[in-house]
Amino acid sequence: APHGPYQTGLYSRKDDIYDESRLTLMSDLREALHHNQTELYYQPKISLATGKVVGVEALIRWHHPDRGWVPPIEFVPMAEKTGVIKHLTRWVVDQALNDLKELHALDPALTVSVNISARDLSSPELVGLFETRTKRNQLNPEQVIIELTETAAMDDPHRGLSALNELTAIGLKLSIDDFGAGYSSLSYLKKLPASEIKLDRALLQDIESSEGARMIVETAIRMGQGLGYQVVAEGVETEKSARLLNQLGAEMLQGYWICSPKPLHELQAWLEVERKAPSLQGLQQV
Ligand code: C2E
Ligand code: MG
Ligand code: MG
Ligand code: MG
Repeated sequence: APHGPYQTGLYSRKDDIYDESRLTLMSDLREALHHNQTELYYQPKISLATGKVVGVEALIRWHHPDRGWVPPIEFVPMAEKTGVIKHLTRWVVDQALNDLKELHALDPALTVSVNISARDLSSPELVGLFETRTKRNQLNPEQVIIELTETAAMDDPHRGLSALNELTAIGLKLSIDDFGAGYSSLSYLKKLPASEIKLDRALLQDIESSEGARMIVETAIRMGQGLGYQVVAEGVETEKSARLLNQLGAEMLQGYWICSPKPLHELQAWLEVERKAPSLQGLQQV
């Protein structure tokens, strides 16, 4: 379609068919967001000190009518490149903050973590978006955590930093996601108004078998804590890893071993069961 999608100005004619299908996928995504055909799944985050669920992370899911499930690692980066991320983030924040209000019926202390992208930080609407949705649902802004990957935070350090300062000035919390997966400048990271870091799954991969891997994780945890961050280990898949991370000093865990991401109603059911029989029971004793 030579006069079709190329007229948007986003792509030059030399781009191949892949880009045309990418544009189709992105217009499908906009439709899906508009008609609520995307969904949020939630994964709990547990405190090792108390064994309690402290919050949930919102993770977007999209079931495309023809293509089936499209993983976020495919469409989120495309949405960033094409600007559709603005619509995606707005939808996610809307939904996640409504859902948190609902989850508070079970436990009013729960937090929600929302992933945002580097590109969101340059949107003049971002701060207002969080502010209005927090107020509308009568939520304490401290119960809303923004997750930004360390790579995204480094994208445009100056603009990024001022947006992050505005967000935390209205009370929101900031978490540095996928910590240890990129190449960040520690001196820059230290300037970010973050209160939490999430150790990347890749960092934890070999801790069960490798002393060196454990050493790296322990060092990352110590450093994070030394800088005043709460340290979350994500992607915890086994009980053995959970025990090790507890010994190495992590404060919180997230991962399939505890609970995979679930639709809101399944998560609510899981939370009820978890309250009666905590997953981490017994972990601290050994
Ligand atoms: P992330 O924010 O680092 O999220 C963690 C990812 O690890 C999620 O993948 C989650 O399902 C997966 N995970 C959780 N526990 C385990 C485990 O024990 N083992 C393994 N192997 N994986 C685990 P998901 O949902 O596919 O999301 C991938 C990435 O896509 C996210 O990484 C985040 O960067 C991005 N993403 C997801 N939802 C959103 C969203 O609403 N907005 C934005 N901007 N990005 C999102
Ligand atoms: Mg995340
Ligand atoms: Mg992560
Ligand atoms: Mg990630």
